[in-house]
Amino acid sequence: MTLLDFRLTESNTIPLDSLAFHVGDTPLLPLRRLSRSLSPRTRVFVKAEWFNPGGSVKDRPALNIIQNAILHGDLGNGKRLLDSTSGNMGISYATFGAALGIPVTLAVPASASSERISILKALGAELILTDPLEGSDGAILKARELAAERPDLYWYANQYNNDANWQAHYLSTGPEIIRQTNGQVTHFVAGLGTSGTFTGTSRYLLEQLPDVNVIAFQPDAPFHGLEGLKHMPSAIKPGIYDESMVGTPLEVRTEAAHEMVIRLAREEGLFVGISSGAAVVAALQVASELDEGVVVTVLPDAGYKYLSDKKLWEQDWSPTSPDVGGDV
Ligand code: PMP
Repeated sequence: MTLLDFRLTESNTIPLDSLAFHVGDTPLLPLRRLSRSLSPRTRVFVKAEWFNPGGSVKDRPALNIIQNAILHGDLGNGKRLLDSTSGNMGISYATFGAALGIPVTLAVPASASSERISILKALGAELILTDPLEGSDGAILKARELAAERPDLYWYANQYNNDANWQAHYLSTGPEIIRQTNGQVTHFVAGLGTSGTFTGTSRYLLEQLPDVNVIAFQPDAPFHGLEGLKHMPSAIKPGIYDESMVGTPLEVRTEAAHEMVIRLAREEGLFVGISSGAAVVAALQVASELDEGVVVTVLPDAGYKYLSDKKLWEQDWSPTSPDVGGDV
């Protein structure tokens, strides 16, 4: 039994279905229209992470962190799960916390999108909003402070330093990509937030396919609109961040990501969040330099949580040369 298979059953004979069973095994979709200008021998695939029950890639590490904590007796003993989050990890903690009866307290930058804050409140999480000017680092410092003040009340999940974060991707995202590409993946591209997705997936892929190329990307500036991603040179570096594996990350501009989310919606039917737009910018950049290859990237969440940015979605834009047909 793997950790991601952990089952809470009330009977030995009839296993109950649960949200946990539906984490991972997300679709791997080809980009068809957006890859038209690439070499015909180069393909780009995206992992559709919004198919997870909590709506994002962060279900994988949140579930693994919670399951490990329960196994070690850190949670399930009345303590509150405490962490800092820009939103998605909080939504995943709050989802599984509600399902398992574990109370959740989150330090969240007040600048997190209003949709995220509403979802967290709907799921019953206790929120401590931190200075928007301090971004995700302000939330990290607040969570550390609360954890130090009240160790009796909180169990600090510490997603930036918890190995169960990257291990979730080592155990699930990496094996899925190998299976879904029949071992033909040549390039893996992912953005850096906690760096869990990049680090865990890359470690597994490199172990199985030593020739695979792993490429990280980050926002091009300290102040950016790529919610969920970090500009590493100016941020508190996560403890799980593996600089030797990352090398020199590609840099993606917020405006390029904004343009790409509209193209993904209107040319591919993929309504995704801003960091997903950034992932496709980076993946297409990598793919454009290849004569032959299979490039895989991760689309962390869907567009719903960003809808309050009306100007972004209502841009007047349509494909220059729409081609009709093909499989959906
Ligand atoms: N995109 C979004 C929307 C996110 O919420 C996150 C998580 N912070 C990421 C990308 C980055 O994922 P990771 O923390 O695994 O690096």
